[in-house]
Amino acid sequence: MRLHSLTLREIHLKLVAPFETSMDRVTERRIILAEAHVDNVSGWGECTAGETPYYCPEDTETAWHILKNFLWPKLKGRELHSAADVWPLLEQVRGHNMAKAAVETAVWDAEAKLKNIPLWNLLGGQRREIPCGVSIGIKDSLDELSATVKKELASGYQRIKIKIKPGKDLPQVQRIRQDFPHIKLMVDANSAYRHEDLPLLKQLDAFYLMMIEQPLGWDDLFGHVAIQKQLQTPICLDECIHTYEQAEAAIALGACKIINVKLGRVGGLLQAKRIHDLCQQNNIPVWCGGMLESGIGRAQNIAMSTLPNFSLPGDVTASQRYWHEDVISPEVTVTPSGTIRVPQSPGIGFLPRADRIASITVRQDHLT
Ligand code: MG
Repeated sequence: MRLHSLTLREIHLKLVAPFETSMDRVTERRIILAEAHVDNVSGWGECTAGETPYYCPEDTETAWHILKNFLWPKLKGRELHSAADVWPLLEQVRGHNMAKAAVETAVWDAEAKLKNIPLWNLLGGQRREIPCGVSIGIKDSLDELSATVKKELASGYQRIKIKIKPGKDLPQVQRIRQDFPHIKLMVDANSAYRHEDLPLLKQLDAFYLMMIEQPLGWDDLFGHVAIQKQLQTPICLDECIHTYEQAEAAIALGACKIINVKLGRVGGLLQAKRIHDLCQQNNIPVWCGGMLESGIGRAQNIAMSTLPNFSLPGDVTASQRYWHEDVISPEVTVTPSGTIRVPQSPGIGFLPRADRIASITVRQDHLT
C-alpha cells in the first residue's frame, strides 16, 4: 500500500463541562486530526497532545510542526507492507510520540479498510464489548463530587476514577467511600505528590482502592519503586511509560502493578500492542486511558481495548460525556451495563463526519 498524502486539520471542540486535574483546567480542546490517503482509502488518526505541555512535553503546536516538517517527509510516497512499517520509519525522531501516533494510527485504519476488516480484528483483538469506567475531574465541593459519582453510576459505568491533588484527596476519597462503599474506585494524581507525601498516600490504603494512578513525578520511575514497596494499594503508571523499555524497567523494578496504556503517549498502535503483550507475559493488567479525545481518537481507543489484557475498565466513554456533538457517526454510546459494543464495520468502524469536521476546522494542511 502506498501513502500518497496526509491532511492535517486542527479542530476546536468545546467540552460539555470544564475538566480539572492537578495539572490544568480544560474548557476547549484544540485537536489535530490526521487523514492519511493510502491507495484509494482514507485512514483517520487523532493527535492527543494537549493545549499545554503540562501532561507531557508535547502540545498541539509542537505536534503540528513535527508532523509537517519531520514525520511526513519520512513517510511521503512510501510503499508499506503494513501499518507496522510506519513506526520504524519515524525512529530517527526522538520522542514526539503523540505526533507519531496521529499518523501511525491513521495508517492502521487505512490498512484495515483496504483489507475490509474492522481495525480491532486486524490488531488481534478479541472482545466484542469493552468495559467502561469514568474519570471525574476535581470538583469544588464534596457534595458536587458525590452527586457526579451518583450520576455516572446511574449511567451504568463500571468503575469510578476521581482526580486528586494535595488538599483535595483524603476527604474526597473518604466521602465517596462513605456514600458508595461497594463500587470499584480509584484515584489519579497526575504526578501531584512527592516522596515526602508517603504518609498521606499510605492513609489511602484504608479505602481499598483498585489503584493509585501516577502519584509521583512524570519521569520518576525510581520514586515509584520506593513507594510501591510501602503501599498495599497497587500503583498504576501513566505518565512514566512512554516506551516499551520504560514499561520493561517499571515491571522489572516493581514500580507498579498496573499500567495505563495511552496510544498517544506510547507512539501508536504498534507500540501499544508491544507494551500490552509485555504486560500480559508479566501478569500486569492494563487499561486504556483517556485524553479528552474526539470520536476519532475514541474509536481508536475502542479498537485497542479489545486486546485480551485490557482486563480492567478503561476511561473510554460515551461521546456525550464530553461533546455536545461529536465528529463521528454514529456517536459512541454506552450500554446500561457500562460497556461499549465494538463496531463491526471496516477500519475504526465509525464514519468521520466531513461537514461537522469542516465546520470546526481552524487550520488545514494537505501534505503531498
Ligand atoms: Mg492518568
